[in-house]
Amino acid sequence: MRTHVLGFPSIGKKRELKQALESFWKGDLSAESLAGICTELKKRHWYIQKDAGLDFVSTGDFSLYDRMLDITCMLGALPPRFAPCAGDPPLERYFSLARGDIKRNIPALEMTKWFDTNYHYLVPEIDGESPWTRGTHPVIEDTRLAGELGFSPKPALIGPFTWLTLAKATVKAAAKTGEGVSTWSRLETVVSAYAELLAALAPYCGFIQIEEPVLCTELLPEKGAEKFRDAYAVLNAAAPGRLMLTTYFGPLSRHLETAASSGCAALHVDLVRGRGQLEAVLDKLPAGMILSLGLVDGRNIWKTGYAKTLPLIEQAVSAIGGERVFLGSSCSLLHSPVDLAEETALLGHIKSRMAFAVQKCAELSALCSIAGHGGQKLLDENTAAHQESRVDAVRERAASVTSAMLSRASAYPARRAAQAHLNLPMLPATTIGSFPQTDAIRRTRLDYRRGRITETEYTAAIKGEIKDCIGKQEELGLDVLVHGEAERNDMVEYFGQQLGGFCFTQNGWVQSYGSRCVKPPVIYGDVYRKHPMTVDWIRYAQSLTQKPVKGMLTGPVTILCWSFVRDDLERSEVCKQIALAIRDEVQDLEKAGIRIIQIDEAALREGMPPAKAEAETYLQWAVDAFRLASTGVEDATQIHTHMCYSEFNAILPWIAKMDADVISIESSRSGMELLDAFSGFHYQGEVGPGVYDIHSPRIPSADEITELLRRALRHIPKEQLWVNPDCGLKTRRWEEAWPSLNNMVAAARRLREP
Ligand code: GLN
Ligand code: ZN
Repeated sequence: MRTHVLGFPSIGKKRELKQALESFWKGDLSAESLAGICTELKKRHWYIQKDAGLDFVSTGDFSLYDRMLDITCMLGALPPRFAPCAGDPPLERYFSLARGDIKRNIPALEMTKWFDTNYHYLVPEIDGESPWTRGTHPVIEDTRLAGELGFSPKPALIGPFTWLTLAKATVKAAAKTGEGVSTWSRLETVVSAYAELLAALAPYCGFIQIEEPVLCTELLPEKGAEKFRDAYAVLNAAAPGRLMLTTYFGPLSRHLETAASSGCAALHVDLVRGRGQLEAVLDKLPAGMILSLGLVDGRNIWKTGYAKTLPLIEQAVSAIGGERVFLGSSCSLLHSPVDLAEETALLGHIKSRMAFAVQKCAELSALCSIAGHGGQKLLDENTAAHQESRVDAVRERAASVTSAMLSRASAYPARRAAQAHLNLPMLPATTIGSFPQTDAIRRTRLDYRRGRITETEYTAAIKGEIKDCIGKQEELGLDVLVHGEAERNDMVEYFGQQLGGFCFTQNGWVQSYGSRCVKPPVIYGDVYRKHPMTVDWIRYAQSLTQKPVKGMLTGPVTILCWSFVRDDLERSEVCKQIALAIRDEVQDLEKAGIRIIQIDEAALREGMPPAKAEAETYLQWAVDAFRLASTGVEDATQIHTHMCYSEFNAILPWIAKMDADVISIESSRSGMELLDAFSGFHYQGEVGPGVYDIHSPRIPSADEITELLRRALRHIPKEQLWVNPDCGLKTRRWEEAWPSLNNMVAAARRLREP
């Protein structure tokens, strides 16, 4: 058996790549120095893999910004707006695509989530006619270098079908040839570029990892799937006997045949996300094809359970023989932090359960030796490492949730009548929760964290901010006010810090995009609420005004999706525990006299697994969790939810099932696209399509907002329409937020007039 990982994080255990990139962009670091730092990082990562005993080291996993962009540049698929950058040095052009060309005012490629991870890639744009000028790919040089240094490199590339499926056909092409057609009309060009790249790599390596995660999804269109075999025949001819067709993020299901008959030398399957597929895969695997088993989860921070994993290895070995079996990570380790050794403050019993990228490499070697000649000691250590964190009361409570706890007392029409006491005008104007996070606010929080001010001083300072925020909202004439979220650094972290079962790492950074990293909270044990988390702040805010103040909570699904979640309990169960904690908070807010409560589910859509069957299951429990969190209130209490995405047509029925009284959704950026979804669907509740793009410093005029609202009114009855921005205002400055909200309120008032 041979061992490998699908990729190692580029960012560096101390985020060296982030620092290098940011200094380079500022002009403080030369291109040569940047390249030098990158080479050092790559070498360090190769040594980690080699020292762990892996048979291959990964190349092509390291990217200066994004691996999708690396392919885009290799193909030369530059959108026409970048034509003026054609003569720039390649590195400059590369970063212009990634971050926009500020001098020439050319916006960057769009960024979007890589499947259901928190990594964002740059979306290729294809218009069907602009000429492409072929560029190079850094993987060739990296692979050559790794070989020269004595490593056995295995280059990793995102495959042509995934690149094309994730590319977006631009409007021009779509109008001309019908949506999608133009994307696939480029297939031949793309395949021949890949073939050249593969041929250039072949002399330097054994296997080449070619990643087609779209095979685990419903995304690959029929016209793409039909062409798969022919295209792969061309690719295999370019690097005979070398391709490892690599799939991840789900079982192959629908495309298993396609993958098995691709003619590649090896196939990699994800047995973490698709554990159940092994038998079917072994059954379909052609004679001679190597099978790489994705056993070590590349997306979490936990040790692999060896006892649970060994049977999979045994099954594969007994079916096809050890020489045809590879052991690998489920996907690239990109989605896991770098090195657990950097953590010095974690409790021992939690740390002993964890494995970051460095430790995951060692796990693969350990699995290989245990499976090969029975390393009982390694197995025992692994089994002992796991201590379940269990709180019996939490388990009992979760087990006793009844279906009645998932429903409001009455259906929406009766609730609407019961909520009339709120006395809201037609087209009520509100915001999504946060207000500008000024330097003073950030300083207050930092001073408190560092112990430079007392709890009393901190509370007084935050109350001062709340008072100020309420005053400003009254002056603006908003109808439903918020407290402004000055006490929150982050909408998930704030709750994680107060809930039982959560902990935080010091260096558990994971790349989010480019040089940006996030450090998600860790859910290691049963989740429960220790005490009310928001009630004092909201009650105080309500005491300052006659207008209703909306309580502001993060929903269970979003808390789950933006954390590292324990792997010894079903995600749906963890989510249920969080939901119960939020339910208690909702009920306490209601008791404190708060009559409107918003529960944000910003991550509901992105947490949806790519494979269809799993998506359904997920939506079912995710919606139930929201309902568990939100329905324990009287009819007269109004529940809001908020979501930050517009492509939700497909899940609108599920959103309706959440049964919130009011939903607010991002939409101004996409030209109110989401309204089409409402046209065909009789949504019962009230809707606030965002009419102010808070991601931009631009101040929308009252006329512009009026126009957006008029358009909304063509799809949503006047009685059901709310007026609000796309999302929270925390990243805006008051200089921008104030006039924008002023215009928003003016637009709402204009339309209220008969
Ligand atoms: N209430 C949060 C805020 O206003 C919502 C943020 C979000 O949806 N991402 O900041
Ligand atoms: Zn939002």
